[in-house]
Amino acid sequence: MIEKRDFYINGAWVAPAAARDYQVIDPATEDPCAVISLGARADTEAAVAAAKAALPAWRATAPETRLAYVEKILAIYEERFEEMAQAISLEMGAPIDLARKEQAFSGTWHISNFIKAAKDFEWVHPLGDGTPGAMIAYEPIGVVGLITPWNWPMNQVTLKVIPALIAGCTMVLKPSEEAPLSSMLFAEFIDQAGVPAGVFNLVNGDGVGVGSQLSSHPDIAMISFTGSTRAGKAISVAAAETLKRVCLELGGKGANLIFADCDEKAVKRGVRHMFENTGQSCNAPSRMLVERSYYEKALEIAAQTAAETRVANPREEGRHIGPVINKAQFEKIQGLIESGIKEGARLIAGGLGRPEGLNKGYYVRPTIFADCTPEMTIVREEIFGPVLSIMPFDNEEEAVALANDTPYGLTNYVQSMDGARRNRLARSLNAGMVQMNGKSRGAGAPFGGIGASGLAREGGRWGIEEFCCVKSIGGWAE
Ligand code: NAD
Repeated sequence: MIEKRDFYINGAWVAPAAARDYQVIDPATEDPCAVISLGARADTEAAVAAAKAALPAWRATAPETRLAYVEKILAIYEERFEEMAQAISLEMGAPIDLARKEQAFSGTWHISNFIKAAKDFEWVHPLGDGTPGAMIAYEPIGVVGLITPWNWPMNQVTLKVIPALIAGCTMVLKPSEEAPLSSMLFAEFIDQAGVPAGVFNLVNGDGVGVGSQLSSHPDIAMISFTGSTRAGKAISVAAAETLKRVCLELGGKGANLIFADCDEKAVKRGVRHMFENTGQSCNAPSRMLVERSYYEKALEIAAQTAAETRVANPREEGRHIGPVINKAQFEKIQGLIESGIKEGARLIAGGLGRPEGLNKGYYVRPTIFADCTPEMTIVREEIFGPVLSIMPFDNEEEAVALANDTPYGLTNYVQSMDGARRNRLARSLNAGMVQMNGKSRGAGAPFGGIGASGLAREGGRWGIEEFCCVKSIGGWAE
């Protein structure tokens, strides 16, 4: 059992103010794998005070100085990469190959992209032609609170900590209590890089405790949050009294529009994408909409792909999916599968209960429902498990209407060989991101949504801007 009770405050690992142990459960075995502490108000206060004290000196450093620290963090992360992959696999059940190639890798990927964006970032620049002496300056917003979920832990932590450092902010990170080990390791990297004391602080805790203390704290200027739409609303309410900036990355219910002229791998790719990370991705393509003339063929490929999807222990190497994060999530997913059956969707793969041969661990059967209709619970709610809903459409207009019929708007997907149609759809789908024919967004592109998915934009230049205030200056000496 790993024991990690201390918090990283003001450049040192310190014991919590009050003993409140919390067991981190290995989702593959249902047994505790680590024990951490949940912070009390005194811990939050100490971390915020340290960040506040460190702010004047840190914001006054040259951007190049801050960038040099980030480059050191990247080098240490690369050196200790395997430790990171193991920590993520243990705490949230990602199969070890996925933990290496996607989960841990997302951290180094984002840091590298931020380094590139920071090199091109113009911290002070002229407003434009014809306005002599008018300047625009980007300045750090101040002390920031960073609250992250468990599903892509290093993806989310690096998308917040790194641009905050680059912008000149100081910070308190509260990672998910379900998956805190990777963040504690990341704090070690920051310590090893010699980032000045107080610039980065980590306090473990739960939402009602440290999470809401940060959200309402008068010395915090901004909360950057990734997690559920429910918690995003609670944070916005808590932050209102102190008029903080609140940047939210929330849930999703992505549509994947499959036209009859799609490439032959489109359906298989869509199903695999849905099941990746055991369906626990905010941008999962969880609603597959298929043109009617291709519908039966698509169902056949989808069912076959689900049948071929192995579910196995995350410690095993190879291509398979692992368990979901915890008991509550397992039960929620079972309840939603049950609702799909009761509400009349046609089960073509998977179903209730654990996969054969797996009696312990929060394993879910890769499940696909066909003939879904827009009002079904499985079509409306974010399931956050390996469950795909498929429905037919007759024309492009109907496909867009179905795709946009959700309060969420994170990522939508299009599969078609017709370029003109793809470009039309890229503009008419309501979402922060549209990905077509299996192509991802470019390096350094912003990640974020609209509506119930939150309005934040993380990554690259846009990610740095989120941690800045824009200052307008007149009378700047040439
Ligand atoms: P969650 O909202 O339960 O928890 C996320 C974090 O918020 C945790 O650190 C938790 O302790 C904290 N928290 C919970 N309630 C809080 C409150 N009232 N005040 C302050 N902090 C609070 O979410 P989760 O179950 O950990 O993660 C899954 C959710 O995250 C899904 O809905 C998923 O779609 C979403 N997500 C979104 C993105 C995105 O970028 N849009 C990325 C990944 C995950």
